[in-house]
Amino acid sequence: MLPNQLITKTFSLEEYGIRKADFHYQLSSEELHQITIDKNMGVETNSGTLAINTGEFTGRSPQDRFIVKDEVTKDKVWWGNINIPFDEDKFDALYNKVTDYLSEKELFVRDAYACADQDYRLNIRVINEYPWSNMFAYNMFLRPEEDELEDFKEDWLIVNAPGFKADPAVDGTRQHNFAILNFSKKIALIGGTGYTGEIKKGIFSALNFILPVYKNVLPMHCSANVGEDNNTAIFFGLSGTGKTTLSADPDRKLIGDDEHGWTPDNKVFNFEGGCYAKVINLSEEGEPDIYNAIKPGAILENVIMNSEGEVDFKDVSITQNTRVSYPIYHINNIQTPSVGENTKNIFFLTADAFGVLPPISKLTPGQAAYHFISGYTAKVAGTEEGITEPVPSFSACFGAPFMPLHPTKYAEMLSEKMKASGVNVWLVNTGWTGGPYGTGSRMKLKYTRAMISAALEGKLDHVEFEQHPIFGLEMPKECPNVPAEVLCPRDTWQDQEAYDKKANLLASYFKDNFEKFDDYANDEILKGGPIV
Ligand code: ATP
Ligand code: MN
Repeated sequence: MLPNQLITKTFSLEEYGIRKADFHYQLSSEELHQITIDKNMGVETNSGTLAINTGEFTGRSPQDRFIVKDEVTKDKVWWGNINIPFDEDKFDALYNKVTDYLSEKELFVRDAYACADQDYRLNIRVINEYPWSNMFAYNMFLRPEEDELEDFKEDWLIVNAPGFKADPAVDGTRQHNFAILNFSKKIALIGGTGYTGEIKKGIFSALNFILPVYKNVLPMHCSANVGEDNNTAIFFGLSGTGKTTLSADPDRKLIGDDEHGWTPDNKVFNFEGGCYAKVINLSEEGEPDIYNAIKPGAILENVIMNSEGEVDFKDVSITQNTRVSYPIYHINNIQTPSVGENTKNIFFLTADAFGVLPPISKLTPGQAAYHFISGYTAKVAGTEEGITEPVPSFSACFGAPFMPLHPTKYAEMLSEKMKASGVNVWLVNTGWTGGPYGTGSRMKLKYTRAMISAALEGKLDHVEFEQHPIFGLEMPKECPNVPAEVLCPRDTWQDQEAYDKKANLLASYFKDNFEKFDDYANDEILKGGPIV
């Protein structure tokens, strides 16, 4: 038998079509941790932290993310290979199959919410097949007070069945796994994958539709923190560019590491109640805040440990995308509630593996819009043999896979907000210096941190800048605690002609990518791009 539950609430899952489920409601993190261990679904590290394997999927599967095309969505969603339509009737049929599958099983149910600003609060009920997925929901969503549970009514339902496998021929999916959003029924249906990120990114995608369409709030794939001066900084960037790493700054209070909204009255609020950090090559020295957040209550995913339970963060034998989730209160210096004001600085993070973009540069409003719509980063050669060249990756709004609307909708909202609040916008290359991936090296984390601190403290306001000849970006010629020679990327390359060639190549990638937006962009934005 399970430990006594503190919260007693009687309801049934029959209304969701789940029959005779023996379900646990609102278990504590400790209870879910213990159940996971007892069921042999996870192990403990030497620090007593739960470690689990997510199974077949160790990352999101963007090609299996669908949106039900119906009255609510058909004219609003930007349909294509990012927002893939799913048939209404097929959804109903698949939902029935999943709830049949979950019937008579031992399940884990949790009530939680998204959006730290109570004006925009979205109540969520999560039904999980696995205990550790439910613990992830505890870590990542906001946690209601006990007295709020009494008459809790969900706005959205998440049904999460990793063990269920769809039959593509019958069910209308691409393969056996799927994450489907239904905006009319307000359901996220996730099956065939145990990757926990699908749960949080499902709700993120839902909010990226709901907030701009109905609430005039700009949703953003960014991290945010606030300084002693009460000024907020936000950090946009695609996966692996440094949102989580750079927002954990001992001198600033963390608002959140991944998903935020910017309200009409200029508040920036976190959607979530926790962080989901990459742990590949994690070290206590480089990222002490994240390292120390890994303690009981956290969940490590897909890491390898030795017989003493010591985790080897360098081991990527399961995946490069090893992760840890923890409630935000595992970080020492946090803003409570997770809401900031006075946004003064915006950073666009990119991990440019071509080694072309400057480590920090200041953007004009036109350049800011151009780079926001472009959403550039680069992917480095993974473990695949024969791949030695970096691959450019453009993802509009630094988060296209989660954006149901046309990118220009978000870009217009951001431009307006930037103009109204007079923010500085910086492009920060956390990627390669001294040459491309293979020849050069990753920008030192301590330099990136120093550049960001300098920008935030106004120390770049009065230094001299020079313009990048191809990208037109304004690069500071000096920055406290950073050697001047790293500030101009061309100077860090041994072969400067090779640099110019690479810079032109990258510029052409930008141009090619932007073609599809040319018709939407005004002159100012078009001039924000590189010259080829
Ligand atoms: P996701 O959207 O997937 O959560 P993210 O933007 O939060 O991604 P991080 O988790 O911060 O990305 O990952 C950045 C990774 O790059 C970390 O592993 C970090 O240690 C490493 N890194 C190396 N050099 C730098 C640098 N100069 N700046 C930032 N991160 C760096
Ligand atoms: Mn992150």
